[in-house]
Formats: sequence, structure tokens, C-alpha cells
Amino acid sequence: MYDINQIRADFPILSRTIYNKPLVYLDNGATTQKPRQVVEAITNEYYNTNANVHRGVHFLSQQATELHEASRETVRRFINARSANEIIFTRGTTESINLLASTFAQSQMQSGDEVIVSVMEHHSNIVPWQLQAMQRGIVLRVIPMDDEGNLLLEEYGRLFSPKTKLVSIVHVSNVLGTVNPVKEMIATAHAHGVPVLVDGAQSIPHIPVDVQALDADFYVFSGHKVYGPTGVGVLYGKEDWLDKLPPYQGGGEMIQHVSFERTTFNELPFKFEAGTPDYIGTTGLAKALEYVSALGMNHIAAYEHELTEYALQRLMEIPDMRIFGQARERGGVISFLVGHIHHFDMGTLLDRLGIAVRTGHHCAQPLMERLGIEGTVRASFGLYNTKEEVDALVVGIDRVRKMF
Ligand code: PMP
Repeated sequence: MYDINQIRADFPILSRTIYNKPLVYLDNGATTQKPRQVVEAITNEYYNTNANVHRGVHFLSQQATELHEASRETVRRFINARSANEIIFTRGTTESINLLASTFAQSQMQSGDEVIVSVMEHHSNIVPWQLQAMQRGIVLRVIPMDDEGNLLLEEYGRLFSPKTKLVSIVHVSNVLGTVNPVKEMIATAHAHGVPVLVDGAQSIPHIPVDVQALDADFYVFSGHKVYGPTGVGVLYGKEDWLDKLPPYQGGGEMIQHVSFERTTFNELPFKFEAGTPDYIGTTGLAKALEYVSALGMNHIAAYEHELTEYALQRLMEIPDMRIFGQARERGGVISFLVGHIHHFDMGTLLDRLGIAVRTGHHCAQPLMERLGIEGTVRASFGLYNTKEEVDALVVGIDRVRKMF
């Protein structure tokens, strides 16, 4: 079923060398590599079907429109949304959150109203709210965590007030790997009559997600982190909520009728999709979701879980190893520091061995502050990584350690 050699053969880049060493790609949290199937679907559409969608009477335009709308249906099925009207295509997680922050704050919040986020958010789930805070005087409240990287749920419960209008939390931390209990957290918010946005950038590629089972009001993710192309992502929103929100950007596609006196807006999902959509990107994204679905998200999750357990155990064999994030439930993201070796030095020297890891604050500076550090080295796994690659990482780290 899960034939790792066959899977790796689908990703041409994995067989290249870096400085004459086989590539060990462990930066999947930043972006994932693309299988041949995705690249071929994109090429095929450019070669055979390319035409602007939605407005054309001609054959190609209609075929491109069908492909684009079929991709929306593929996304709907993948996250089990009730209706394809609830799937808004965006440029990615960042744009999805900005869209929501802007339209939600504009229509649902007043000065002094509050949004609850957590201490482990990516900057893209902090700064859009701060922009609204500057413009409209809304206030951010922050869920703290313990030293292992578990959010403190009792503290979370105490943050609610009559001024709380939204909870916006990450599903899986891109630094600690923590899988937050979002279902439980959504139930808590709903008990206070508050809707929830979930940042699924690091969950969608790794674990099965059912937005109805979670009862998420909004769920966002990026195509490029789930083996799809860059520049395309998703905002899922319950239809009732999306109906209540005003348009985000103005332009073509999002209108019903325009006159200088009065313009009326298109229905969902087009109300939020001004301009020519990335219809080639949506084809690539749908192909990527079909690819992971064919492997089975459960199988991917089980495979990556075993790999992560193995990696944690092997990494702990290294003297002076500090791993940040030992949450009760965790995904395949491992942040670490070794002794006093600077994360940047470790990353640079690992690179010379062909090992790609990320270094720095990972767009989570408030979390770094909470941990009392400036940055980490981060290894993050994808569905194609192997225990041999983990071994190469361990040998590499040990070599760097001995150099210092
Ligand atoms: N949230 C999380 C948890 C992430 O890991 C990332 C990407 N590092 C983002 C949001 C932003 O995603 P994008 O850059 O694709 O918009």
C-alpha cells in the first residue's frame, strides 16, 4: 500500500544531489516538493486547455471553467465541507487569514472587541489582527502554553468575555509540532457563542481533516504545503458566515451588476474571488489532493508518526540536544538546538552535507520569546521522507557538533 520507493519516484527532485551528496529534504514545513502528477496536470492544462474561466462562450473557456469548478469540488470533498460554495480560492493561508481578518473585523467587530489567538501562532495569524487592531481598536488576547508546548485550556476558557468575537488558532504548530485539540477548543468557543478560525497550513498535509466533524467556522490552508503549486490556497467558511461578510477585494468576477450609481455583488463563492483566479493553480492543487487521497491521509499520518517517533528517539542520542516541543500530541516538525551552536551555523553546515533544514524564528517570534531563544533548527517531514534520511540527519548533526 505505502510503497516508499514508488512514492519517491513520483518526486523527481528527490533524486538530485546537492554538493555531490544525495539531497535530504527536511524543510517540508516551509514547502513540499511536487509529484510528477501535479506538474503534468499543470503543463497539460497550459498546453491543451488554457483559457480564462467563467466568462467565455467558447469551448476552451468552458472546459477550463469545468476544470476549475471540479477542483473546487475536489477541495470540498477533501475537507468534507457541506457545499462547494464554502470553498473560496485564495493565494494561500496568509491571504485567507487577511481576507477573514479584514472582512470579519469590518462587519462584526467594534473598538474594544477581542480576538483570541495562541502564543504559538505564525505571524500570519497575528499581524493581520494587529492591522485591524490599529485601524479599529480591536484587542488580541493570547492563550498561553506549558513548557512542553501544550496550550493551557483552562486559561483559554478564562479568556472569554462578552467582547470576544472570534478565536483564531493554529491546528498544528510549525515550530513545536503540537497538534492542538481544536475540536475541543471549538466546542468551548461555541459554548460562548464565538466562531473559530483554524490555521490548517501544517495540518492539511499530514492528518485527515473534516471541517464538519471539527465544526470549524473557518479553516484555511496553502496548496504548496500539501504537494500542490505555489500561489493557491483555500479559505473554507460556513456558508452562513460567508454570507454575512462583505467582499474583500473589488473587481471582475465578484459582481452581479455594476453601474456608477450602485453595484451588486455575486453570490458565493465568487463574491470573494475578484479578478481572474489562478485556475491553473487550482488544477494543480486538486491533483495534489487526489494524490494524497490515493495514498490515504490515515496512511500518511501513520507513516509520518512512526518516522517522527524514530527521529525523536535518534536525535535524543545526541549529547547536548535540546528539543523544543514535547506535546502530548505532535506532528512531524522537530525544532532543536545543540549545545551553544548557533542555529544558523548548524543549518549552513548541514546544507554542505546535502541536508535541507530551516533555521531561524520560523515566523513565530512571540513563541521564540516564550521559549527564551532567538531561533531553532527545524527538521520537518513529508510523506516521502525515510528513516535513512533521519539517520543522515543524526550523523550530520553529530559531525557539526564535533567541529565546534
Ligand atoms: N500558518 C502556519 C502555521 C504556517 O506554517 C505557515 C507557513 N509557514 C503559514 C501560516 C503561512 O502560509 P503561507 O506562507 O503559505 O501563506
